[in-house]
Amino acid sequence: MKKQSMVARKNMDEIRIENLEVYAYHGVYQEETEKGQPFFVNAVLYTDTTPAALTDELTLATNYGDVCHFISEWMKEHTCQLIETVAENVAREILLRYPLILEVDLEIRKPKAPIGLPFGCVSVKIHRSWHTVYLSIGSNMGDRQQYLEQAIDALRDHAQIKVGRVSEWVNTKPYGEVEQQDFLNGIVEIHTLLTPQELLEELHRIEAAAGRERLVHWGPRTLDLDIVFYDDLVYEAKDLTIPHVDMANRYFVLKPLSQMIPYYVHPVIGKNVNQLLQELNSAE
Ligand code: ATP
Ligand code: CA
Ligand code: CA
Repeated sequence: MKKQSMVARKNMDEIRIENLEVYAYHGVYQEETEKGQPFFVNAVLYTDTTPAALTDELTLATNYGDVCHFISEWMKEHTCQLIETVAENVAREILLRYPLILEVDLEIRKPKAPIGLPFGCVSVKIHRSWHTVYLSIGSNMGDRQQYLEQAIDALRDHAQIKVGRVSEWVNTKPYGEVEQQDFLNGIVEIHTLLTPQELLEELHRIEAAAGRERLVHWGPRTLDLDIVFYDDLVYEAKDLTIPHVDMANRYFVLKPLSQMIPYYVHPVIGKNVNQLLQELNSAE
Protein backbone atom coordinates (compact mmCIF):
# COMPACT_ATOMS: atom_id res chain seq x y z
CA MET A 1 0.00 0.00 0.00
CA LYS A 2 1.24 3.46 -0.83
CA LYS A 3 2.04 5.52 2.23
CA GLN A 4 -0.02 8.68 2.56
CA SER A 5 1.93 11.82 3.20
CA MET A 6 1.06 13.94 6.23
CA VAL A 7 2.71 17.09 4.99
CA ALA A 8 2.39 18.87 1.66
CA ARG A 9 3.94 16.36 -0.72
CA LYS A 10 7.53 17.02 -1.66
CA ASN A 11 9.42 15.26 -4.40
CA MET A 12 11.44 12.39 -3.03
CA ASP A 13 14.47 12.49 -5.30
CA GLU A 14 17.52 10.33 -4.78
CA ILE A 15 21.17 11.24 -4.50
CA ARG A 16 23.24 8.07 -4.69
CA ILE A 17 26.69 7.39 -3.33
CA GLU A 18 28.13 4.10 -4.55
CA ASN A 19 31.06 2.12 -3.22
CA LEU A 20 32.66 4.80 -1.09
CA GLU A 21 35.77 3.07 0.23
CA VAL A 22 36.76 3.63 3.84
CA TYR A 23 39.64 1.92 5.60
CA ALA A 24 38.49 1.51 9.19
CA TYR A 25 38.70 -0.58 12.36
CA HIS A 26 35.25 -2.08 13.03
CA GLY A 27 34.93 -5.68 14.14
CA VAL A 28 35.03 -8.09 17.03
CA TYR A 29 38.52 -9.53 16.56
CA GLN A 30 41.73 -7.87 17.73
CA GLU A 31 43.18 -8.09 14.26
CA GLU A 32 40.24 -6.12 12.88
CA THR A 33 40.49 -3.32 15.43
CA GLU A 34 44.31 -3.11 15.18
CA LYS A 35 45.08 -3.68 11.51
CA GLY A 36 41.79 -2.51 10.07
CA GLN A 37 40.25 -3.42 6.72
CA PRO A 38 38.38 -1.81 3.83
CA PHE A 39 34.67 -1.08 4.07
CA PHE A 40 32.45 0.05 1.21
CA VAL A 41 29.45 2.30 1.70
CA ASN A 42 26.39 2.68 -0.49
CA ALA A 43 23.96 5.43 0.40
CA VAL A 44 20.76 6.80 -1.05
CA LEU A 45 19.88 10.26 0.23
CA TYR A 46 16.20 11.11 -0.26
CA THR A 47 15.56 14.80 -0.74
CA ASP A 48 13.65 17.25 -2.88
CA THR A 49 16.20 18.51 -5.42
CA THR A 50 13.74 20.92 -7.11
CA PRO A 51 14.71 24.15 -5.27
CA ALA A 52 18.40 23.61 -6.11
CA ALA A 53 17.73 22.38 -9.64
CA LEU A 54 15.55 25.34 -10.63
CA THR A 55 18.03 27.92 -9.34
CA ASP A 56 21.30 26.05 -9.95
CA GLU A 57 22.19 27.30 -6.47
CA LEU A 58 24.73 25.26 -4.49
CA THR A 59 23.47 26.49 -1.13
CA LEU A 60 20.04 24.91 -1.80
CA ALA A 61 21.57 21.52 -2.56
CA THR A 62 22.91 18.73 -0.38
CA ASN A 63 26.66 18.70 -0.84
CA TYR A 64 27.27 15.02 -1.56
CA GLY A 65 31.04 15.48 -1.43
CA ASP A 66 30.65 16.75 2.09
CA VAL A 67 28.43 13.78 2.96
CA CYS A 68 31.10 11.38 1.64
CA HIS A 69 33.80 13.05 3.75
CA PHE A 70 31.52 12.99 6.77
CA ILE A 71 30.83 9.24 6.39
CA SER A 72 34.50 8.49 5.89
CA GLU A 73 35.62 10.54 8.90
CA TRP A 74 32.95 9.13 11.18
CA MET A 75 33.87 5.56 10.26
CA LYS A 76 37.59 6.20 10.76
CA GLU A 77 37.17 8.02 14.06
CA HIS A 78 34.95 5.39 15.70
CA THR A 79 35.43 1.71 16.40
CA CYS A 80 32.30 -0.44 16.57
CA GLN A 81 32.05 -4.19 16.95
CA LEU A 82 29.08 -4.42 14.61
CA ILE A 83 28.48 -2.94 11.18
CA GLU A 84 24.85 -2.64 12.32
CA THR A 85 26.05 -0.07 14.87
CA VAL A 86 28.08 1.76 12.24
CA ALA A 87 25.05 1.92 9.93
CA GLU A 88 22.66 3.08 12.68
CA ASN A 89 24.96 5.87 13.87
CA VAL A 90 26.01 7.11 10.46
CA ALA A 91 22.40 7.16 9.22
CA ARG A 92 21.26 9.13 12.26
CA GLU A 93 24.13 11.62 12.00
CA ILE A 94 23.42 12.19 8.29
CA LEU A 95 19.74 12.96 9.06
CA LEU A 96 20.75 15.32 11.86
CA ARG A 97 23.50 17.17 9.97
CA TYR A 98 21.86 17.58 6.57
CA PRO A 99 18.41 19.15 7.00
CA LEU A 100 17.41 18.63 3.35
CA ILE A 101 17.78 14.86 3.67
CA LEU A 102 14.50 13.37 4.89
CA GLU A 103 15.27 9.67 4.50
CA VAL A 104 18.38 7.63 3.96
CA ASP A 105 19.28 4.10 2.86
CA LEU A 106 22.68 3.08 4.12
CA GLU A 107 24.57 -0.07 3.28
CA ILE A 108 27.86 -0.97 4.96
CA ARG A 109 29.77 -3.68 3.11
CA LYS A 110 32.64 -5.66 4.60
CA PRO A 111 34.23 -7.76 1.85
CA LYS A 112 37.25 -8.88 3.95
CA ALA A 113 35.30 -9.95 7.05
CA PRO A 114 37.22 -12.79 8.79
CA ILE A 115 34.78 -15.61 8.09
CA GLY A 116 37.28 -18.32 7.12
CA LEU A 117 35.34 -19.37 4.03
CA PRO A 118 35.42 -18.08 0.47
CA PHE A 119 32.66 -15.46 0.07
CA GLY A 120 31.89 -12.33 -1.93
CA CYS A 121 30.84 -9.82 0.69
CA VAL A 122 28.79 -9.37 3.85
CA SER A 123 26.76 -6.24 4.39
CA VAL A 124 24.06 -4.56 6.43
CA LYS A 125 21.52 -2.25 4.80
CA ILE A 126 19.13 -0.02 6.72
CA HIS A 127 16.54 2.64 5.99
CA ARG A 128 16.06 5.52 8.43
CA SER A 129 13.89 8.62 8.20
CA TRP A 130 12.40 11.55 10.02
CA HIS A 131 8.93 10.69 11.32
CA THR A 132 6.00 13.10 11.30
CA VAL A 133 4.06 13.10 14.55
CA TYR A 134 1.04 15.03 15.81
CA LEU A 135 0.96 15.63 19.55
CA SER A 136 -2.06 16.68 21.54
CA ILE A 137 -0.98 19.12 24.22
CA GLY A 138 -3.07 20.40 27.11
CA SER A 139 -2.96 22.14 30.47
CA ASN A 140 -5.56 23.09 33.07
CA MET A 141 -3.56 24.31 36.03
CA GLY A 142 -1.85 27.62 36.75
CA ASP A 143 -0.60 29.65 33.79
CA ARG A 144 -1.86 27.21 31.17
CA GLN A 145 -0.45 29.02 28.14
CA GLN A 146 2.98 29.27 29.72
CA TYR A 147 3.03 25.52 30.41
CA LEU A 148 2.16 24.84 26.79
CA GLU A 149 4.80 27.22 25.46
CA GLN A 150 7.48 25.81 27.78
CA ALA A 151 6.63 22.32 26.57
CA ILE A 152 7.11 23.40 22.97
CA ASP A 153 10.47 24.95 23.89
CA ALA A 154 11.46 21.68 25.56
CA LEU A 155 10.54 19.76 22.40
CA ARG A 156 12.54 22.25 20.35
CA ASP A 157 15.59 21.78 22.59
CA HIS A 158 15.72 18.05 21.88
CA ALA A 159 18.37 17.21 19.28
CA GLN A 160 16.21 14.56 17.62
CA ILE A 161 13.00 16.61 17.43
CA LYS A 162 12.15 19.45 15.04
CA VAL A 163 9.00 21.40 15.83
CA GLY A 164 6.79 22.13 12.81
CA ARG A 165 3.41 23.86 12.93
CA VAL A 166 1.65 24.71 16.18
CA SER A 167 -2.14 25.10 16.19
CA GLU A 168 -4.12 27.86 17.85
CA TRP A 169 -5.14 27.07 21.41
CA VAL A 170 -8.65 25.78 22.05
CA ASN A 171 -10.34 26.44 25.39
CA THR A 172 -12.23 23.31 26.44
CA LYS A 173 -14.49 22.24 29.28
CA PRO A 174 -12.79 19.38 31.14
CA TYR A 175 -13.38 15.80 30.04
CA GLY A 176 -14.49 13.09 32.49
CA GLU A 177 -16.06 13.37 35.92
CA VAL A 178 -13.53 15.34 37.96
CA GLU A 179 -14.42 18.94 38.94
CA GLN A 180 -11.62 21.22 37.60
CA GLN A 181 -10.51 24.31 35.65
CA ASP A 182 -11.02 24.57 31.85
CA PHE A 183 -8.36 23.09 29.58
CA LEU A 184 -6.23 24.89 27.07
CA ASN A 185 -5.47 22.44 24.26
CA GLY A 186 -3.72 22.36 20.94
CA ILE A 187 -1.82 20.27 18.43
CA VAL A 188 1.92 20.37 17.80
CA GLU A 189 3.42 18.90 14.65
CA ILE A 190 6.91 17.51 15.09
CA HIS A 191 9.47 15.66 13.00
CA THR A 192 11.53 13.22 14.99
CA LEU A 193 14.08 10.44 14.76
CA LEU A 194 12.82 8.92 18.03
CA THR A 195 10.90 5.65 18.04
CA PRO A 196 7.35 5.78 19.48
CA GLN A 197 8.55 4.40 22.81
CA GLU A 198 11.50 6.78 22.99
CA LEU A 199 9.17 9.66 22.18
CA LEU A 200 6.71 8.61 24.91
CA GLU A 201 9.57 8.57 27.44
CA GLU A 202 10.62 12.03 26.33
CA LEU A 203 7.04 13.32 26.67
CA HIS A 204 6.88 11.90 30.18
CA ARG A 205 10.14 13.66 31.03
CA ILE A 206 8.79 16.99 29.75
CA GLU A 207 5.53 16.49 31.70
CA ALA A 208 7.49 15.70 34.86
CA ALA A 209 9.67 18.80 34.38
CA ALA A 210 6.45 20.84 34.22
CA GLY A 211 5.54 19.49 37.66
CA ARG A 212 2.95 17.02 36.37
CA GLU A 213 1.75 14.63 39.03
CA ARG A 214 -0.47 11.67 38.17
CA LEU A 215 -2.98 11.83 41.02
CA VAL A 216 -6.40 11.23 39.48
CA HIS A 217 -7.00 9.87 35.97
CA TRP A 218 -8.33 12.72 33.85
CA GLY A 219 -7.71 14.99 36.85
CA PRO A 220 -6.14 18.47 36.77
CA ARG A 221 -2.65 18.66 35.30
CA THR A 222 -0.04 21.27 34.48
CA LEU A 223 0.81 19.54 31.22
CA ASP A 224 -0.42 16.56 29.19
CA LEU A 225 1.31 15.41 26.01
CA ASP A 226 -0.27 12.59 23.98
CA ILE A 227 0.79 11.04 20.69
CA VAL A 228 -2.15 11.29 18.26
CA PHE A 229 -0.55 10.10 15.01
CA TYR A 230 2.96 8.81 14.26
CA ASP A 231 3.32 8.59 10.47
CA ASP A 232 0.82 5.95 9.30
CA LEU A 233 1.74 3.72 12.19
CA VAL A 234 -0.75 1.45 13.94
CA TYR A 235 0.86 0.35 17.18
CA GLU A 236 -0.44 -1.38 20.26
CA ALA A 237 1.65 -2.00 23.37
CA LYS A 238 0.84 -2.21 27.07
CA ASP A 239 1.65 1.45 27.67
CA LEU A 240 1.14 2.98 24.23
CA THR A 241 -1.59 2.94 21.58
CA ILE A 242 -1.14 4.77 18.28
CA PRO A 243 -3.25 6.42 16.90
CA HIS A 244 -4.48 7.70 20.27
CA VAL A 245 -7.41 5.47 21.13
CA ASP A 246 -9.90 8.23 21.97
CA MET A 247 -8.91 10.92 19.46
CA ALA A 248 -12.03 10.52 17.32
CA ASN A 249 -14.22 11.49 20.34
CA ARG A 250 -12.31 14.66 21.15
CA TYR A 251 -13.21 18.02 19.69
CA PHE A 252 -10.09 19.60 21.20
CA VAL A 253 -7.95 17.15 19.18
CA LEU A 254 -9.92 17.05 15.92
CA LYS A 255 -10.59 20.78 15.62
CA PRO A 256 -6.94 21.96 15.64
CA LEU A 257 -5.86 18.85 13.71
CA SER A 258 -8.39 19.62 10.97
CA GLN A 259 -6.62 22.93 10.39
CA MET A 260 -3.33 21.13 9.77
CA ILE A 261 -4.12 17.80 8.07
CA PRO A 262 -7.84 17.89 7.12
CA TYR A 263 -7.57 15.12 4.52
CA TYR A 264 -5.26 12.79 6.36
CA VAL A 265 -6.99 9.40 6.69
CA HIS A 266 -7.00 7.74 10.11
CA PRO A 267 -5.12 4.47 9.48
CA VAL A 268 -7.57 2.36 11.51
CA ILE A 269 -10.95 4.09 11.13
CA GLY A 270 -10.42 4.86 7.43
CA LYS A 271 -11.95 8.37 7.56
CA ASN A 272 -10.14 11.65 7.22
CA VAL A 273 -9.81 14.21 10.01
CA ASN A 274 -12.51 16.47 8.56
CA GLN A 275 -14.98 13.59 8.37
CA LEU A 276 -14.23 12.57 11.96
CA LEU A 277 -14.79 16.14 13.11
CA GLN A 278 -18.10 16.43 11.21
CA GLU A 279 -19.32 13.14 12.67
CA LEU A 280 -18.41 14.22 16.17
CA ASN A 281 -20.17 17.58 15.71
CA SER A 282 -23.33 15.96 14.37
CA ALA A 283 -23.34 13.39 17.21
CA GLU A 284 -23.48 16.13 19.86
P1 ATP B 1 -5.95 9.98 27.82
O1 ATP B 1 -4.87 9.11 27.27
O2 ATP B 1 -7.32 9.32 27.79
O3 ATP B 1 -5.96 11.36 27.27
P2 ATP B 1 -4.50 10.94 30.07
O4 ATP B 1 -3.70 11.65 29.02
O5 ATP B 1 -5.11 11.79 31.14
O6 ATP B 1 -5.66 10.10 29.38
P3 ATP B 1 -2.21 9.94 31.36
O7 ATP B 1 -2.28 9.73 32.82
O8 ATP B 1 -1.54 11.19 30.86
O9 ATP B 1 -3.66 9.81 30.76
O10 ATP B 1 -1.45 8.75 30.64
C1 ATP B 1 -1.62 7.43 31.02
C2 ATP B 1 -0.77 6.54 30.12
O11 ATP B 1 -1.33 6.42 28.82
C3 ATP B 1 0.62 7.02 29.81
O12 ATP B 1 1.51 6.77 30.86
C4 ATP B 1 0.97 6.22 28.56
O13 ATP B 1 1.72 5.06 28.89
C5 ATP B 1 -0.38 5.75 28.04
N1 ATP B 1 -0.62 6.01 26.61
C6 ATP B 1 -1.21 5.11 25.77
N2 ATP B 1 -1.31 5.59 24.54
C7 ATP B 1 -0.76 6.84 24.57
C8 ATP B 1 -0.56 7.85 23.57
N3 ATP B 1 -0.94 7.65 22.30
N4 ATP B 1 0.06 9.00 23.95
C9 ATP B 1 0.43 9.19 25.23
N5 ATP B 1 0.28 8.28 26.22
C10 ATP B 1 -0.32 7.12 25.90
CA1 CA C 1 -4.61 13.07 27.40
CA1 CA D 1 -1.45 11.66 28.59
